[in-house]
Amino acid sequence: MRLLMFDGGQGPRPGVLQGGDRVIDLLASARARGEELPTDLLGLVDAGPEAWERVGALIDGVKSRPLAEVKLLPPLNPRGNVLCIGRNYLEHAKESARARGEEVDRPTVFTKAQTAVIGPWDDVSVDSRITTQVDWEVELGVVIGRGGKDISEERALDHVFGYLVVNDLSARDVQFGWGGQFFKGKSLDGFCPIGPWIVTADEIPDPQNLRLTLSVNGIVKQNSNTRDMIFAVAELIAQLSLGMTLRAGSLIATGTPEGVGMGRNPQEYLRDGDVAEAAVDGIGSLRNRIVVKSVDAAKGSGRAPHGQ
Ligand code: ZN
Repeated sequence: MRLLMFDGGQGPRPGVLQGGDRVIDLLASARARGEELPTDLLGLVDAGPEAWERVGALIDGVKSRPLAEVKLLPPLNPRGNVLCIGRNYLEHAKESARARGEEVDRPTVFTKAQTAVIGPWDDVSVDSRITTQVDWEVELGVVIGRGGKDISEERALDHVFGYLVVNDLSARDVQFGWGGQFFKGKSLDGFCPIGPWIVTADEIPDPQNLRLTLSVNGIVKQNSNTRDMIFAVAELIAQLSLGMTLRAGSLIATGTPEGVGMGRNPQEYLRDGDVAEAAVDGIGSLRNRIVVKSVDAAKGSGRAPHGQ
């Protein structure tokens, strides 16, 4: 099932994608049957497996409307910061480490502010006074359905509610220019497009065989497969939850493959009007246009003059 959040003129509502281009209004369907349903997908995740089962019954024989008529919203308002994994596709780095007799035994973990999350087809507004190095990172996103601590790798996928696509947009000049902490450079408003929907875990029994791509204005920049992850999704959940509680509704961005703008020669960054499309096979794609506010346009609305 593909669960989404949409606004069709009556405010944000949970829905289900039907046939790829139509949307079923879950709230309307529930109310027509005299039932109540959480008004967003975080609420649905929290409501637990019984509520998840009920959703299946709510889409039988129900009227749908064209997807093109509604605005898609971020499918999830994640609980807490987005948990991000750095350097998870460097198969080559792993091999070289092994060749030197070292093991890559712990993933790099950082977070991204929840306030950075935007919808799958929203514009990304960039202030050129703050960053001129906006970079892309396509990633498989994992939504936790059942929280836990010290989760074993064997049981880890039982804790997954579903999967979505994340573009971990990064202001590289901020990421590396503010004391070496990634957080701010990863967390500017709009720098976390997610969606376009959550594909429930039952539809992706093996998350380690999904092609993922990112293109800019139609030109492919990243093209890889989740089978090339150093730490598989189950390992990531096990490692993240070591001594640290993972909560239902948490979103994990599982790292990006090679091909980001920073790693190119010469380096490439997103410019005004560019469209970044991040796609994961079996899930869908995000398409976000970059809208840069020019320095001139920003004058007068910005900081107070010096000395005041
Ligand atoms: Zn990333």
